[in-house]
Amino acid sequence: MHFIDVILPIPIQKTFTYAVTEEEAVFLKKGMRVAVSFGKTKMYTALVLNIHQTSPVLYEAKDIHQILDETPLVNEKQLKHWQWIADYYMCSLGDVYRAALPSSFLLESETIIFKNKSFSDESILTDNEYLIFEALSNQSQLTIHQVSSILGKKKVMPIVNELINKEVITIKEEIYEQYKPKLVKYVRLHASHSSDTSLEILLNTLARAKKQREVILCFFQLMSAKKPIKVKELEEKSNVSSSIIKSLVDKNILEFYTIQTDRIQFNGDTNDLKKLNTHQEKALTEIKESFKDKDVTLLHGITSSGKTEVYTKLIKEVLDQGKQVLFLLPEIALTTQIITRLQFYFGEQISVFHSKYSLNERVEVWINILENKSKAKIILGARSSIFLPFSNLGLIVVDEEHETSYKQFEPSPRYNARDAAIVLAKIHGSKILLGSATPSLESYFNAQQNKYGFVSLNKRHGNVLLPKIELIDVKEKQRKKEMSGHFSDRLLTLIQEALDLKEQVILFQNRRGYSPVVECNTCGISPQCPNCDVSLTYHKFKHELRCHYCNYQRAMPNSCGACGSNTLDNKGFGTEQIELELKTLFPNYNIGRMDLDTTRGKNGYQKIIGSFENKEIDILVGTQMLSKGLDFENVSLVGVLNADSMLNFPDFRAHERAYDMMVQVSGRAGRNKKQGNVAIQTYNPYHKILQQVSTTNYTEMYKEQLQERWQYKYPPYYRLIKITLKHRDYTKVDNGVNWLFKALYSSFGEHVLGPTTPVVSRVRNQYIKNIVIKIPPKQHLSNTKQQLQKIKNTFEAVKDFRPIRFIIDVDAY
Ligand code: ADP
Ligand code: ZN
Ligand code: ZN
Repeated sequence: MHFIDVILPIPIQKTFTYAVTEEEAVFLKKGMRVAVSFGKTKMYTALVLNIHQTSPVLYEAKDIHQILDETPLVNEKQLKHWQWIADYYMCSLGDVYRAALPSSFLLESETIIFKNKSFSDESILTDNEYLIFEALSNQSQLTIHQVSSILGKKKVMPIVNELINKEVITIKEEIYEQYKPKLVKYVRLHASHSSDTSLEILLNTLARAKKQREVILCFFQLMSAKKPIKVKELEEKSNVSSSIIKSLVDKNILEFYTIQTDRIQFNGDTNDLKKLNTHQEKALTEIKESFKDKDVTLLHGITSSGKTEVYTKLIKEVLDQGKQVLFLLPEIALTTQIITRLQFYFGEQISVFHSKYSLNERVEVWINILENKSKAKIILGARSSIFLPFSNLGLIVVDEEHETSYKQFEPSPRYNARDAAIVLAKIHGSKILLGSATPSLESYFNAQQNKYGFVSLNKRHGNVLLPKIELIDVKEKQRKKEMSGHFSDRLLTLIQEALDLKEQVILFQNRRGYSPVVECNTCGISPQCPNCDVSLTYHKFKHELRCHYCNYQRAMPNSCGACGSNTLDNKGFGTEQIELELKTLFPNYNIGRMDLDTTRGKNGYQKIIGSFENKEIDILVGTQMLSKGLDFENVSLVGVLNADSMLNFPDFRAHERAYDMMVQVSGRAGRNKKQGNVAIQTYNPYHKILQQVSTTNYTEMYKEQLQERWQYKYPPYYRLIKITLKHRDYTKVDNGVNWLFKALYSSFGEHVLGPTTPVVSRVRNQYIKNIVIKIPPKQHLSNTKQQLQKIKNTFEAVKDFRPIRFIIDVDAY
């Protein structure tokens, strides 16, 4: 008897065993996919983890339905890495598997399929395929389970796959972005004419068709370049509509053909790397020195010191050794600029992977990396790119390593991509460079402890000085009546001065919408979200109230829902309000806005960033997206509208983050030649963080914060595991959390904090309760986790508690 253990893409703790024939056992390899049934009727795409001959003790192994791969789709290094993630972050291997694979690799019985509207060539369909095609003409969607009953057979995955390949159907995630390889249409002479068919003869046959003659003339011109001719190109060159070209095809003079191209196209020449300045050269030497005995090195380089140029040197060396490079970015907003910068040097060797890419693009990148193709030597991506099938990594760069967006909150696995990347590097025996102008306390601490190597780069390129930062006391300005709306006279002067010099301005306001709170001046009540315990935000453009937690929206009411007075008033302000004020204050300039509301869609960021780079926008208002490593050469002023909201946040990392955010956004000013200006408006100019920001004194901030972390038992000294319970019924979740607290207390004593109710205590109608476990420096992490897992199992064995969602977040943020 032969068996396989598989991972199922569902949150169950264990692997499952299925029976296979001897033939199958010989064929199968670790990392191949098989279709299996699980539960009563469900069908899943499982991943082979082990092949052996020991039958399971507790159940009788079922047969598999089908082998789905010829060769492994996932390699052993990945499996090892996934196992680490599952253990460390206390989730199932199935959760990691599901997060890692693009979803078209994971068809299951509940997957929904749709008809691809542009498909028409029924003649290429087999009988079974035709049945499904026909069924989809009568009803708009089918689950794979239904496909199975229509065909009266269980093994339908290969048929569904074939339907996808033939572009007959699409699956759920793709209804917005049709599943099809991008085909570029080319045109050539029809086979009946050899390429030396004389132009003369052809033109004669077209004596009466003037436009068609022009097309042919152009075609022969283009042919002399001896390159494939795109239909588009011919259309443009000959300045005719596509129907004219089509008519030549109908006459069998020309014919269309297609070449599948990759989406990330690069056409242009590559360039030599920039020559490093002496400081960068020194940093590079030190990094290489450090890599001799440290796998992880932290590069603390101030904003605009040219970290990216230093990275490129390292990347080049690793590529020359024939190895792969992973370049992690915290935010897709940044990719456009970095892609362009890296392509300038490395051309086609770069592939990009992130969630705004279509499924098909992600599948392509996966396959290219798996096959170690030359166009996938450098992978640029957001956090999920740590799951890709690298075979031969030589270097990982984690840019802006302090960024909190490296941490995934929801759903499981709740991993930190920076930390998981360090483990990935270890598995590959590769080096990893963490870079930032404002390193996380954790990484800086590790460097201080000599766990990581450390290199600093503290001169801006071209020896431009860091910007002059001034703090503007808003309280004082209000008293003297020197505010217009949310702008102090000083900030307005600075803006005008920059505009007069044809320089650009960035204004930072960390809240979107028009005003975050609407309040009744008579009774003091604010309109609340019906699903969440939070006030609604006013969005003026659409004149509506919106919930930033669940997206609930309704029209802005005229009168107060509580007391009926029409005295609703806006409190606080967001990016939208600032944008509108600017339009009145600077009517002759172009104002742009970059926040979640203006960057939807695949190219949302690109458009705004592009028009700011092209100087079509003079003043750009935005949220924290603006603070992330963007490089604009003409920005001479950065204004922070209100520093206080960042400082008064109930979180132990609030001060560190406020420092990071302000230093990073300030770093966008004066990156080229001339020193820039930064103006920060605040009610509290003597706040120590603001003082540290105004002198860019990272080490002082570090020392002070570290002191507090030690005193209040927080990372990097203590580790945190956060437990969140959620349920629609308040009493249920309350009872559950009290029971849990007692159980945890008896194991961990004073290191358990809680239970607490978060600031927003109900989201999407689920009540939320938290408990935090603090793990002291010497306490064994894995023992703690084992103990916690035991308690969780007991909790879930209580019938009343079972429906409560139990979320564990290791190294919570
Ligand atoms: P950082 O990532 O440290 O903020 P960048 O790598 O974006 O800094 O560099 C800031 C700017 O200076 C970029 O426009 C970059 O092209 C330019 N620059 C940096 N180093 C050099 C160099 N050695 N030669 C030419 N230009 C450089
Ligand atoms: Zn009222
Ligand atoms: Zn809501």
